[in-house]
Amino acid sequence: MKQLLILGAGTAGTMMLNKLSRALDPKDWQLTIIDKDPNHIYQPGLLFIPFGMYSVDDIIKPKSDFFPGKAKVIFSEMKVIKPVKQQVELENGDILHYDFLILATGSEIRPDEIEGMTEDLWRKSIFDFYTIEGAVALQNYLDKWEGGKMVINIAEMPIKCPVAPLEFTFLADDYFRKKGIREKVEISFVTPLDAAFTKPIAARELGGFLKNRGVKVVTDFNIGRVDNEEKKIVSWDEREVDFDLLVTIPTNMGNDVIKRSGMGDELNFVPTDKHTLQSKEWPNIFVIGDATDLPSSKAGSVAHFESEILFENLMAAINGEELSASFDGHANCFIESGDGKGLLIDFNYDTEPLPGKFPIPKVGPFSLLKETRMNHLGKLGFKWVYWNLLLKGKDLPMESSMSMAGKVFPEEIPA
Ligand SMILES: Cc1cc2nc3c(=O)[nH]c(=O)nc-3n(C[C@H](O)[C@H](O)[C@H](O)COP(=O)(O)OP(=O)(O)OC[C@H]3O[C@@H](n4cnc5c(N)ncnc54)[C@H](O)[C@@H]3O)c2cc1C
Repeated sequence: MKQLLILGAGTAGTMMLNKLSRALDPKDWQLTIIDKDPNHIYQPGLLFIPFGMYSVDDIIKPKSDFFPGKAKVIFSEMKVIKPVKQQVELENGDILHYDFLILATGSEIRPDEIEGMTEDLWRKSIFDFYTIEGAVALQNYLDKWEGGKMVINIAEMPIKCPVAPLEFTFLADDYFRKKGIREKVEISFVTPLDAAFTKPIAARELGGFLKNRGVKVVTDFNIGRVDNEEKKIVSWDEREVDFDLLVTIPTNMGNDVIKRSGMGDELNFVPTDKHTLQSKEWPNIFVIGDATDLPSSKAGSVAHFESEILFENLMAAINGEELSASFDGHANCFIESGDGKGLLIDFNYDTEPLPGKFPIPKVGPFSLLKETRMNHLGKLGFKWVYWNLLLKGKDLPMESSMSMAGKVFPEEIPA
Protein backbone atom coordinates (compact mmCIF):
# COMPACT_ATOMS: atom_id res chain seq x y z
CA MET A 1 0.00 0.00 0.00
CA LYS A 2 1.44 3.39 -1.02
CA GLN A 3 1.26 6.29 1.42
CA LEU A 4 0.22 9.84 0.58
CA LEU A 5 0.48 12.25 3.50
CA ILE A 6 -1.09 15.70 3.63
CA LEU A 7 0.35 17.95 6.32
CA GLY A 8 -2.16 20.62 7.37
CA ALA A 9 -5.94 20.35 7.11
CA GLY A 10 -6.74 24.00 6.47
CA THR A 11 -8.14 25.37 3.21
CA ALA A 12 -5.56 23.80 0.88
CA GLY A 13 -5.01 20.45 2.63
CA THR A 14 -8.74 19.74 2.94
CA MET A 15 -9.38 20.55 -0.73
CA MET A 16 -6.53 18.28 -1.82
CA LEU A 17 -7.69 15.43 0.39
CA ASN A 18 -11.18 15.54 -1.12
CA LYS A 19 -9.92 15.72 -4.70
CA LEU A 20 -7.42 12.88 -4.23
CA SER A 21 -9.77 10.58 -2.34
CA ARG A 22 -12.04 10.58 -5.38
CA ALA A 23 -9.16 9.87 -7.77
CA LEU A 24 -6.92 7.32 -6.00
CA ASP A 25 -7.92 3.70 -5.53
CA PRO A 26 -8.11 2.96 -1.77
CA LYS A 27 -6.82 -0.56 -2.49
CA ASP A 28 -3.50 0.96 -3.62
CA TRP A 29 -3.29 4.22 -1.70
CA GLN A 30 -3.62 5.16 1.97
CA LEU A 31 -4.44 8.85 2.27
CA THR A 32 -3.58 10.45 5.63
CA ILE A 33 -4.11 14.03 6.77
CA ILE A 34 -2.52 15.52 9.89
CA ASP A 35 -3.44 18.70 11.77
CA LYS A 36 -2.99 19.94 15.31
CA ASP A 37 -6.35 21.67 15.51
CA PRO A 38 -9.73 19.89 15.19
CA ASN A 39 -11.51 23.17 14.31
CA HIS A 40 -11.58 24.76 10.87
CA ILE A 41 -11.69 28.55 10.88
CA TYR A 42 -13.14 30.40 7.90
CA GLN A 43 -10.37 33.01 8.01
CA PRO A 44 -11.99 35.62 5.70
CA GLY A 45 -14.73 35.88 8.37
CA LEU A 46 -12.19 37.12 10.96
CA LEU A 47 -12.35 40.53 9.28
CA PHE A 48 -15.97 41.02 10.32
CA ILE A 49 -15.68 39.98 13.99
CA PRO A 50 -14.19 43.23 15.36
CA PHE A 51 -17.20 45.13 14.00
CA GLY A 52 -19.77 42.67 15.39
CA MET A 53 -20.85 41.61 11.88
CA TYR A 54 -19.99 37.91 12.48
CA SER A 55 -19.76 35.92 15.69
CA VAL A 56 -17.18 33.22 16.36
CA ASP A 57 -19.84 30.54 15.78
CA ASP A 58 -20.33 31.87 12.23
CA ILE A 59 -16.78 31.01 11.22
CA ILE A 60 -15.85 27.75 12.98
CA LYS A 61 -16.80 24.20 12.08
CA PRO A 62 -15.25 20.84 13.02
CA LYS A 63 -12.60 19.85 10.48
CA SER A 64 -13.98 16.30 10.48
CA ASP A 65 -17.16 17.60 8.75
CA PHE A 66 -15.09 18.02 5.60
CA PHE A 67 -13.03 14.83 5.46
CA PRO A 68 -13.99 11.96 3.16
CA GLY A 69 -14.68 8.61 4.89
CA LYS A 70 -11.74 6.81 3.27
CA ALA A 71 -9.02 9.05 4.70
CA LYS A 72 -7.05 8.45 7.86
CA VAL A 73 -7.13 11.55 10.09
CA ILE A 74 -4.58 12.31 12.78
CA PHE A 75 -4.97 15.27 15.12
CA SER A 76 -1.47 15.98 16.39
CA GLU A 77 1.29 18.56 16.33
CA MET A 78 3.99 17.58 13.83
CA LYS A 79 7.43 17.53 15.32
CA VAL A 80 9.64 17.20 12.28
CA ILE A 81 9.63 16.23 8.60
CA LYS A 82 12.56 14.12 7.42
CA PRO A 83 12.54 14.44 3.62
CA VAL A 84 15.59 12.27 3.06
CA LYS A 85 14.03 9.35 4.97
CA GLN A 86 10.53 10.19 3.64
CA GLN A 87 9.15 10.35 7.16
CA VAL A 88 7.10 12.64 9.39
CA GLU A 89 7.47 12.45 13.15
CA LEU A 90 4.53 13.39 15.36
CA GLU A 91 4.62 15.00 18.80
CA ASN A 92 4.26 11.62 20.57
CA GLY A 93 7.21 10.17 18.64
CA ASP A 94 5.13 8.15 16.14
CA ILE A 95 6.78 7.98 12.71
CA LEU A 96 4.80 8.00 9.47
CA HIS A 97 6.35 6.99 6.15
CA TYR A 98 5.28 8.56 2.85
CA ASP A 99 5.71 7.98 -0.86
CA PHE A 100 4.33 11.43 -1.70
CA LEU A 101 3.89 14.39 0.62
CA ILE A 102 1.72 17.51 0.30
CA LEU A 103 2.80 20.39 2.50
CA ALA A 104 -0.16 22.62 3.37
CA THR A 105 0.87 24.00 6.74
CA GLY A 106 -0.14 27.60 5.94
CA SER A 107 1.19 30.77 7.53
CA GLU A 108 0.59 32.41 10.88
CA ILE A 109 1.16 35.74 12.57
CA ARG A 110 4.27 36.17 14.67
CA PRO A 111 3.90 39.33 16.81
CA ASP A 112 6.84 38.03 18.87
CA GLU A 113 9.10 38.88 15.90
CA ILE A 114 8.65 42.61 16.63
CA GLU A 115 10.38 44.15 19.65
CA GLY A 116 7.87 45.31 22.26
CA MET A 117 4.79 44.08 20.40
CA THR A 118 3.72 41.42 22.90
CA GLU A 119 4.67 43.36 26.04
CA ASP A 120 2.43 45.51 28.34
CA LEU A 121 -0.04 46.78 25.75
CA TRP A 122 -0.68 43.49 23.91
CA ARG A 123 -4.44 42.86 23.77
CA LYS A 124 -4.94 46.00 25.91
CA SER A 125 -4.24 48.73 23.32
CA ILE A 126 -2.60 46.54 20.65
CA PHE A 127 -4.66 43.96 18.78
CA ASP A 128 -4.52 41.74 15.73
CA PHE A 129 -7.54 40.50 13.80
CA TYR A 130 -5.83 37.52 12.10
CA THR A 131 -6.66 35.17 15.01
CA ILE A 132 -9.95 34.38 16.75
CA GLU A 133 -8.53 35.57 20.08
CA GLY A 134 -7.30 38.84 18.57
CA ALA A 135 -10.47 39.57 16.60
CA VAL A 136 -12.72 38.93 19.64
CA ALA A 137 -10.55 41.01 21.99
CA LEU A 138 -10.63 43.84 19.43
CA GLN A 139 -14.41 43.63 19.16
CA ASN A 140 -14.73 43.99 22.94
CA TYR A 141 -12.35 46.93 22.88
CA LEU A 142 -14.05 48.75 19.97
CA ASP A 143 -17.43 48.28 21.61
CA LYS A 144 -16.38 50.57 24.45
CA TRP A 145 -13.85 52.80 22.68
CA GLU A 146 -14.78 56.47 22.48
CA GLY A 147 -12.13 57.58 20.00
CA GLY A 148 -8.52 58.64 19.66
CA LYS A 149 -5.66 57.73 17.32
CA MET A 150 -6.14 54.40 15.58
CA VAL A 151 -3.13 53.08 13.68
CA ILE A 152 -3.37 50.13 11.31
CA ASN A 153 0.14 48.82 10.67
CA ILE A 154 1.43 46.12 8.34
CA ALA A 155 4.76 44.96 9.79
CA GLU A 156 6.25 43.43 6.66
CA MET A 157 5.30 41.62 3.47
CA PRO A 158 4.26 39.01 2.55
CA ILE A 159 1.06 38.73 4.59
CA LYS A 160 -1.89 36.48 3.95
CA CYS A 161 -4.79 38.23 2.28
CA PRO A 162 -2.84 41.42 1.46
CA VAL A 163 -6.08 43.37 1.02
CA ALA A 164 -7.41 42.52 4.52
CA PRO A 165 -5.70 45.52 6.25
CA LEU A 166 -7.32 47.86 3.71
CA GLU A 167 -10.69 46.20 4.17
CA PHE A 168 -10.30 46.55 7.94
CA THR A 169 -9.61 50.28 7.50
CA PHE A 170 -12.66 50.84 5.26
CA LEU A 171 -14.90 48.91 7.66
CA ALA A 172 -13.52 50.81 10.65
CA ASP A 173 -14.32 54.14 8.96
CA ASP A 174 -17.87 52.93 8.30
CA TYR A 175 -18.24 51.52 11.85
CA PHE A 176 -17.16 54.76 13.54
CA ARG A 177 -19.44 56.81 11.24
CA LYS A 178 -22.45 54.65 12.11
CA LYS A 179 -21.55 54.90 15.79
CA GLY A 180 -21.45 58.70 15.43
CA ILE A 181 -17.83 59.04 16.60
CA ARG A 182 -15.94 59.25 13.28
CA GLU A 183 -14.80 62.83 13.95
CA LYS A 184 -13.28 61.65 17.26
CA VAL A 185 -11.11 59.00 15.54
CA GLU A 186 -7.92 59.80 13.62
CA ILE A 187 -7.16 56.81 11.39
CA SER A 188 -3.66 56.18 10.00
CA PHE A 189 -2.71 53.39 7.60
CA VAL A 190 0.99 52.67 8.08
CA THR A 191 2.58 50.37 5.53
CA PRO A 192 6.05 49.18 4.51
CA LEU A 193 4.95 49.53 0.86
CA ASP A 194 5.36 52.72 -1.16
CA ALA A 195 1.58 52.90 -1.73
CA ALA A 196 -1.72 51.52 -0.41
CA PHE A 197 -1.23 48.19 -2.27
CA THR A 198 1.41 46.26 -4.16
CA LYS A 199 0.09 46.65 -7.72
CA PRO A 200 0.14 50.16 -9.26
CA ILE A 201 -3.37 50.46 -10.79
CA ALA A 202 -5.09 48.93 -7.74
CA ALA A 203 -2.82 50.98 -5.44
CA ARG A 204 -3.96 54.19 -7.14
CA GLU A 205 -7.63 53.20 -6.83
CA LEU A 206 -7.42 51.98 -3.23
CA GLY A 207 -5.22 54.92 -2.19
CA GLY A 208 -8.04 57.17 -3.44
CA PHE A 209 -10.49 55.26 -1.24
CA LEU A 210 -8.33 55.91 1.83
CA LYS A 211 -8.02 59.60 0.97
CA ASN A 212 -11.78 59.99 0.47
CA ARG A 213 -12.35 58.44 3.89
CA GLY A 214 -9.96 60.88 5.56
CA VAL A 215 -7.37 58.20 6.35
CA LYS A 216 -3.76 59.35 6.69
CA VAL A 217 -1.37 57.07 4.78
CA VAL A 218 2.22 56.61 5.97
CA THR A 219 4.33 54.69 3.42
CA ASP A 220 7.78 53.02 3.45
CA PHE A 221 7.46 52.46 7.21
CA ASN A 222 9.39 49.36 8.31
CA ILE A 223 8.54 48.82 11.96
CA GLY A 224 11.51 48.24 14.26
CA ARG A 225 9.82 48.31 17.68
CA VAL A 226 6.81 49.26 19.75
CA ASP A 227 7.39 51.79 22.53
CA ASN A 228 4.86 50.66 25.16
CA GLU A 229 5.47 53.62 27.49
CA GLU A 230 5.10 56.36 24.90
CA LYS A 231 2.50 54.41 22.89
CA LYS A 232 4.20 54.73 19.53
CA ILE A 233 5.60 52.53 16.81
CA VAL A 234 9.12 53.31 15.66
CA SER A 235 10.59 52.40 12.28
CA TRP A 236 14.12 51.15 11.59
CA ASP A 237 14.97 54.66 10.34
CA GLU A 238 13.59 56.15 13.62
CA ARG A 239 10.33 57.57 12.27
CA GLU A 240 7.56 57.51 14.89
CA VAL A 241 3.77 57.15 14.77
CA ASP A 242 1.72 57.66 17.97
CA PHE A 243 -1.30 55.53 18.72
CA ASP A 244 -4.06 55.08 21.25
CA LEU A 245 -5.16 51.90 19.53
CA LEU A 246 -2.77 49.88 17.37
CA VAL A 247 -4.20 47.26 15.01
CA THR A 248 -1.20 45.26 13.89
CA ILE A 249 -0.76 42.85 11.03
CA PRO A 250 2.42 41.33 12.39
CA THR A 251 5.10 39.41 10.49
CA ASN A 252 3.54 36.36 8.79
CA MET A 253 5.63 33.18 8.83
CA GLY A 254 5.36 29.54 7.92
CA ASN A 255 4.95 27.11 10.82
CA ASP A 256 7.98 26.25 12.96
CA VAL A 257 7.82 22.61 11.83
CA ILE A 258 9.28 23.86 8.53
CA LYS A 259 12.14 25.49 10.43
CA ARG A 260 12.70 22.42 12.63
CA SER A 261 12.87 20.34 9.45
CA GLY A 262 15.34 22.71 7.73
CA MET A 263 13.00 23.03 4.76
CA GLY A 264 12.22 26.76 4.59
CA ASP A 265 13.59 30.22 3.92
CA GLU A 266 14.13 32.84 6.64
CA LEU A 267 10.33 33.22 7.03
CA ASN A 268 9.81 29.41 7.09
CA PHE A 269 8.22 29.44 3.62
CA VAL A 270 9.08 26.44 1.48
CA PRO A 271 11.01 27.00 -1.79
CA THR A 272 8.52 25.83 -4.45
CA ASP A 273 8.49 25.80 -8.25
CA LYS A 274 6.14 28.70 -9.06
CA HIS A 275 4.52 26.81 -11.97
CA THR A 276 4.52 23.09 -11.07
CA LEU A 277 4.11 23.52 -7.25
CA GLN A 278 6.74 20.84 -6.71
CA SER A 279 9.27 21.40 -3.93
CA LYS A 280 12.49 22.79 -5.41
CA GLU A 281 14.49 20.21 -3.48
CA TRP A 282 12.44 17.00 -3.21
CA PRO A 283 10.51 15.69 -6.25
CA ASN A 284 8.05 13.67 -4.13
CA ILE A 285 7.01 16.74 -2.10
CA PHE A 286 4.44 19.24 -3.38
CA VAL A 287 3.60 22.52 -1.64
CA ILE A 288 0.33 24.46 -1.72
CA GLY A 289 -1.30 27.53 -0.19
CA ASP A 290 0.32 29.94 2.24
CA ALA A 291 3.19 27.53 3.01
CA THR A 292 4.91 28.19 -0.36
CA ASP A 293 7.44 30.93 -1.09
CA LEU A 294 5.66 31.82 -4.35
CA PRO A 295 5.34 35.46 -5.44
CA SER A 296 1.55 35.00 -5.66
CA SER A 297 -0.85 36.30 -2.98
CA LYS A 298 -1.37 34.20 0.12
CA ALA A 299 -5.12 33.71 -0.22
CA GLY A 300 -7.76 30.99 -0.14
CA SER A 301 -8.60 31.73 -3.78
CA VAL A 302 -4.96 31.12 -4.71
CA ALA A 303 -4.97 27.83 -2.79
CA HIS A 304 -8.10 26.88 -4.74
CA PHE A 305 -6.57 27.65 -8.15
CA GLU A 306 -3.35 25.91 -7.10
CA SER A 307 -5.28 22.81 -6.01
CA GLU A 308 -6.32 22.11 -9.59
CA ILE A 309 -2.75 22.41 -10.87
CA LEU A 310 -1.31 20.43 -8.00
CA PHE A 311 -3.88 17.68 -8.50
CA GLU A 312 -2.89 17.27 -12.16
CA ASN A 313 0.84 17.38 -11.46
CA LEU A 314 0.68 15.01 -8.51
CA MET A 315 -1.30 12.49 -10.55
CA ALA A 316 1.32 12.85 -13.30
CA ALA A 317 4.14 12.29 -10.79
CA ILE A 318 2.40 9.22 -9.38
CA ASN A 319 2.09 7.83 -12.92
CA GLY A 320 5.71 8.66 -13.72
CA GLU A 321 4.71 11.29 -16.28
CA GLU A 322 5.99 14.80 -16.90
CA LEU A 323 4.46 17.63 -14.81
CA SER A 324 2.60 19.56 -17.49
CA ALA A 325 0.12 21.70 -15.52
CA SER A 326 1.38 25.22 -14.86
CA PHE A 327 0.17 27.67 -12.20
CA ASP A 328 0.01 31.27 -13.43
CA GLY A 329 -0.28 32.96 -10.02
CA HIS A 330 -4.04 33.50 -10.39
CA ALA A 331 -5.62 35.35 -7.44
CA ASN A 332 -9.13 36.62 -7.04
CA CYS A 333 -10.23 38.69 -4.01
CA PHE A 334 -13.32 40.59 -2.99
CA ILE A 335 -12.43 43.78 -1.12
CA GLU A 336 -15.01 44.95 1.40
CA SER A 337 -15.15 48.77 1.22
CA GLY A 338 -17.80 49.54 3.86
CA ASP A 339 -21.40 50.76 3.70
CA GLY A 340 -22.54 47.50 2.09
CA LYS A 341 -20.21 47.79 -0.90
CA GLY A 342 -17.11 46.07 -2.18
CA LEU A 343 -14.62 45.71 -5.03
CA LEU A 344 -13.22 42.67 -6.78
CA ILE A 345 -9.70 42.14 -8.10
CA ASP A 346 -8.50 39.36 -10.40
CA PHE A 347 -4.84 39.06 -11.35
CA ASN A 348 -1.86 36.73 -11.78
CA TYR A 349 1.95 36.76 -11.82
CA ASP A 350 2.07 38.84 -15.01
CA THR A 351 -1.15 40.88 -15.07
CA GLU A 352 -2.02 43.35 -12.35
CA PRO A 353 -5.65 43.92 -11.26
CA LEU A 354 -7.51 45.71 -14.07
CA PRO A 355 -11.00 47.18 -14.29
CA GLY A 356 -13.78 45.35 -16.14
CA LYS A 357 -16.50 42.78 -15.54
CA PHE A 358 -16.25 39.28 -14.02
CA PRO A 359 -16.78 36.41 -14.72
CA ILE A 360 -18.87 37.14 -17.86
CA PRO A 361 -17.38 39.91 -20.08
CA LYS A 362 -19.53 43.09 -20.24
CA VAL A 363 -22.18 41.42 -17.99
CA GLY A 364 -20.54 40.54 -14.69
CA PRO A 365 -22.43 40.36 -12.37
CA PHE A 366 -19.25 41.44 -10.54
CA SER A 367 -17.30 44.59 -11.36
CA LEU A 368 -13.51 44.60 -11.26
CA LEU A 369 -11.79 47.40 -9.34
CA LYS A 370 -15.12 49.18 -8.90
CA GLU A 371 -17.18 49.63 -5.74
CA THR A 372 -20.58 47.92 -6.06
CA ARG A 373 -23.19 46.34 -3.82
CA MET A 374 -23.04 43.15 -5.89
CA ASN A 375 -19.35 42.72 -5.01
CA HIS A 376 -20.24 43.01 -1.30
CA LEU A 377 -22.93 40.36 -1.75
CA GLY A 378 -20.34 38.19 -3.53
CA LYS A 379 -18.00 38.53 -0.55
CA LEU A 380 -20.71 37.51 1.91
CA GLY A 381 -21.93 34.69 -0.36
CA PHE A 382 -18.44 33.27 -0.58
CA LYS A 383 -18.77 31.82 2.95
CA TRP A 384 -21.43 29.40 1.69
CA VAL A 385 -19.32 28.52 -1.34
CA TYR A 386 -16.32 27.90 0.93
CA TRP A 387 -18.06 25.50 3.33
CA ASN A 388 -20.21 23.70 0.75
CA LEU A 389 -18.15 23.54 -2.45
CA LEU A 390 -14.58 24.74 -2.13
CA LEU A 391 -13.43 22.73 0.91
CA LYS A 392 -15.12 19.63 -0.46
CA GLY A 393 -12.96 19.95 -3.59
CA LYS A 394 -15.98 20.39 -5.88
CA ASP A 395 -15.69 22.16 -9.22
CA LEU A 396 -16.43 25.89 -9.19
CA PRO A 397 -17.36 27.83 -12.34
CA MET A 398 -13.95 29.51 -12.38
CA GLU A 399 -10.83 28.66 -14.37
CA SER A 400 -7.60 28.05 -12.47
CA SER A 401 -5.80 30.24 -15.04
CA MET A 402 -6.63 33.93 -15.17
CA SER A 403 -8.62 35.10 -18.18
CA MET A 404 -8.27 38.51 -19.88
CA ALA A 405 -11.88 38.32 -21.11
CA GLY A 406 -13.91 41.17 -19.64
CA LYS A 407 -10.86 43.16 -18.53
CA VAL A 408 -10.03 46.66 -19.74
CA PHE A 409 -6.45 46.82 -21.01
CA PRO A 410 -4.01 49.25 -19.35
CA GLU A 411 -3.74 51.52 -22.39
CA GLU A 412 -7.52 52.06 -22.30
CA ILE A 413 -7.48 53.32 -18.68
CA PRO A 414 -7.41 57.11 -18.34
CA ALA A 415 -4.35 58.30 -16.33
C1 LIG B 1 -8.28 38.14 8.30
C2 LIG B 1 -8.12 37.28 7.10
C3 LIG B 1 -8.92 37.52 5.98
C4 LIG B 1 -8.79 36.74 4.84
N1 LIG B 1 -9.59 36.99 3.76
C5 LIG B 1 -9.46 36.25 2.63
C6 LIG B 1 -10.32 36.50 1.52
O1 LIG B 1 -11.20 37.35 1.55
N2 LIG B 1 -10.13 35.74 0.41
C7 LIG B 1 -9.16 34.77 0.33
O2 LIG B 1 -9.04 34.11 -0.71
N3 LIG B 1 -8.33 34.53 1.39
C8 LIG B 1 -8.47 35.23 2.53
N4 LIG B 1 -7.65 34.98 3.61
C9 LIG B 1 -6.51 34.05 3.47
C10 LIG B 1 -6.90 32.59 3.54
O3 LIG B 1 -7.69 32.32 4.67
C11 LIG B 1 -5.62 31.75 3.59
O4 LIG B 1 -4.77 32.16 2.53
C12 LIG B 1 -5.92 30.28 3.40
O5 LIG B 1 -6.69 29.81 4.47
C13 LIG B 1 -4.61 29.49 3.31
O6 LIG B 1 -4.87 28.12 3.31
P1 LIG B 1 -3.73 27.09 3.76
O7 LIG B 1 -4.36 25.75 3.67
O8 LIG B 1 -2.49 27.36 3.04
O9 LIG B 1 -3.46 27.43 5.30
P2 LIG B 1 -4.44 27.26 6.52
O10 LIG B 1 -5.86 27.26 6.06
O11 LIG B 1 -4.05 28.29 7.51
O12 LIG B 1 -4.13 25.79 7.09
C14 LIG B 1 -2.89 25.41 7.63
C15 LIG B 1 -3.16 24.24 8.58
O13 LIG B 1 -1.92 23.62 8.96
C16 LIG B 1 -2.00 23.26 10.32
N5 LIG B 1 -0.62 23.16 10.85
C17 LIG B 1 0.39 24.05 10.64
N6 LIG B 1 1.49 23.64 11.26
C18 LIG B 1 1.20 22.48 11.89
C19 LIG B 1 1.94 21.59 12.74
N7 LIG B 1 3.23 21.83 13.08
N8 LIG B 1 1.32 20.49 13.21
C20 LIG B 1 0.03 20.21 12.90
N9 LIG B 1 -0.73 21.03 12.12
C21 LIG B 1 -0.15 22.15 11.62
C22 LIG B 1 -2.81 24.37 10.96
O14 LIG B 1 -3.40 23.96 12.19
C23 LIG B 1 -3.84 24.68 9.87
O15 LIG B 1 -5.05 23.97 10.06
C24 LIG B 1 -7.80 35.71 4.80
C25 LIG B 1 -7.01 35.45 5.93
C26 LIG B 1 -7.17 36.22 7.07
C27 LIG B 1 -6.32 35.93 8.26
